[in-house]
Amino acid sequence: LFAYGNGNSKRTLGGRVGARNPFVPPVRSNSCENPQPICTSPEDPEIVDERLKNIDPKMIELITNEIMHKYKPIDWSDIAGLEFAKTVIKEAVVWPLLRPDIFNGLRRPPKGILLFGPPGTGKTLIGKCIASQSKATFFSISASSLTSKWVGEGEKMVRALFAVAVVHQPSVVFIDEIDSLLTQRSENEHESSRRIKTEFLVQLDGATTSDEDRVLIVGATNRPQELDEAARRRLTQRLYVPLPETAARVHILKNLLQSVQNDITDSEYDKIGELTQGYSGADMETLCREASMEPIRSIPCDQIALFDIQNLRKVNLNDFLAAIRQVKSSVSSKDLQQYVNWNRTYGTGG
Ligand code: ADP
Repeated sequence: LFAYGNGNSKRTLGGRVGARNPFVPPVRSNSCENPQPICTSPEDPEIVDERLKNIDPKMIELITNEIMHKYKPIDWSDIAGLEFAKTVIKEAVVWPLLRPDIFNGLRRPPKGILLFGPPGTGKTLIGKCIASQSKATFFSISASSLTSKWVGEGEKMVRALFAVAVVHQPSVVFIDEIDSLLTQRSENEHESSRRIKTEFLVQLDGATTSDEDRVLIVGATNRPQELDEAARRRLTQRLYVPLPETAARVHILKNLLQSVQNDITDSEYDKIGELTQGYSGADMETLCREASMEPIRSIPCDQIALFDIQNLRKVNLNDFLAAIRQVKSSVSSKDLQQYVNWNRTYGTGG
């Protein structure tokens, strides 16, 4: 349901550390050997936009191919729960991107927002939904990949990213793990990562002060307490993205199970919803994946190659009860309390 492009639901360059997001080097060898002409004018492919004239064409190509995303339309109803965040974002962000003629002067929208909360609660999903609903170009990058993986290239990359975002406006630039770019700069920090941070602040200030450009920065973090005062000042709307409530967990379950044959009744959905207190959206996904494997496991190994799919039994409540024993919630209550506290002090409506 939430698949984007080639079914890879979360394509970020570098992305989070982990198996899901293998690192993609900044310059792919084929693009280096055979650079393609960069055309930025749909009317005339020969014209290179003025705003990109000082940017390395290889970087532009890389950003266009790897950081700028085509996405399937995504609707607010695809995001379970999070009613407060959704309402604020629609009014403060999406409508202004759609109607800049109405939202100016006093009604000028924020240029930078922060989504904070436990991992796997829908922050990226919201970023994509903002872009989809405001018909904006979506750029997605993991901040830690800028500092850790692109040593030497990161600074140029930041500049190029913002330049390309301006050219393709309205744009939404989603920056995951923004805490790694906006924390207090430490003494023993590597020189190159210091330069990346400085460049990022320069670009962020440009993007957040320009009246004409419709570029929205959406920062996401699981560690809001690490952001300094300067970061909070730049990201004026700070929205808590909490764990899903029971009803939202049921919503996520129902969405996910649309793609597999099951005979789970409404009251059984509710039961699973109650048994999964404290699970994030991502935990619910892992749970569903695990439960949906159970019918497959009942096929004898020597029959799997020729097994008639018509005979595959449907996923049922017992599969979920078994899966719940395997898949536990990934967020601790101690961590949760930190988010609640931070929200109370710095959050919008907290
Ligand atoms: P985050 O960016 O907060 O770490 P993601 O947006 O990447 O989390 O969500 C992780 C996965 O869990 C995604 O596949 C997403 O579809 C699902 N998910 C998380 N929260 C929700 C939600 N509120 N509604 C629907 N799906 C969700």
